[in-house]
Amino acid sequence: MLDKKNIFNTSQSILQTFDSPFLKGKGVKLFVKRDDLIHPLVSGNKWRKLKYNIAQAFKNKADGVITFGGAYSNHLIATASACNKVGLKSVGLVRGEELHPDSNETLKKCSLMGMKLVFLDRMVYAMKNDVDFIKELHADYPNYYLVPEGGANFLGMIGCQEIWNEIPFVPDHVFVAQGTTATSVGLLLGKKESTALHVVPVLKGFDSQKEMLNLLNKVTFDSSISGDYLSKVIFHADADFGGYAKYNDELIDFIRKTYRNHLLPLDHVYTGKAFYSLIKWLEKQNQLEGKTIVFIHTGGLQGSSFYQSDF
Ligand SMILES: *Cc1c(COP(=O)(O)O)cnc(C)c1O
Repeated sequence: MLDKKNIFNTSQSILQTFDSPFLKGKGVKLFVKRDDLIHPLVSGNKWRKLKYNIAQAFKNKADGVITFGGAYSNHLIATASACNKVGLKSVGLVRGEELHPDSNETLKKCSLMGMKLVFLDRMVYAMKNDVDFIKELHADYPNYYLVPEGGANFLGMIGCQEIWNEIPFVPDHVFVAQGTTATSVGLLLGKKESTALHVVPVLKGFDSQKEMLNLLNKVTFDSSISGDYLSKVIFHADADFGGYAKYNDELIDFIRKTYRNHLLPLDHVYTGKAFYSLIKWLEKQNQLEGKTIVFIHTGGLQGSSFYQSDF
């Protein structure tokens, strides 16, 4: 069923070389894993995180999927689109009771793809992981399979691990943007010893270590094992640009230039910040001769096309 619809095919996600005189000078090879090319809406890591969740929904013979997201959530639109393609219903619980299905392009597209949107005030939304609240949801939507916000569960992490299968060498460094940490924890669990995993949180004041540890504990069941894993991560807290979805002229200029000079599209919420952090880190490194670096392009380009046209 899923294969026939062909939505879980990653052949579009190429591993692209990123060339520049700056990189040549450093003697490093930089590659970009273009998960943004998998699908325009079920994009990047959202697609990876949904893969086994959707399969599980089918296994459970669920009527649909219920999930959570903010007003511009890449995860909501990915879920709406994926469910639409495979013939599952979808319900999106949206943060913000002042919103409605016409509030912005993301929500409009979600409704057009058949997602039922339910708008929750922030206090209620904050209960999204509470056992009692989830029980109530299952009572209100019987036979719906629940995916947590951002697809951040075990199956989501397993899906993200598969990125490694599509990188045909062992990179020295890998950079990835971080929101819920499901993608970075998935990558961490599947990486080879010699690869350094660099994470770039995009939320201000986000306790990356604590959040990663929480998720790791759910799979290792042992905080000392989780701690060992965590010690292999390099955190870059220098590129939040003031917080989630915040930006300044420097970031926008960087995104525009990266597109103009390299045809690499980035967004200002996730990948723009992560790639900026990678370049800033590289500028400070002097001993990377012969090393390979992979930037995981996690997608999320909905609404970013103006960075690519306006020059
Ligand atoms: C959601 C998202 C992330 C964050 O991924 P997590 O698994 O939540 O850490 C990163 N990049 C893009 C483009 C995203 O849409």
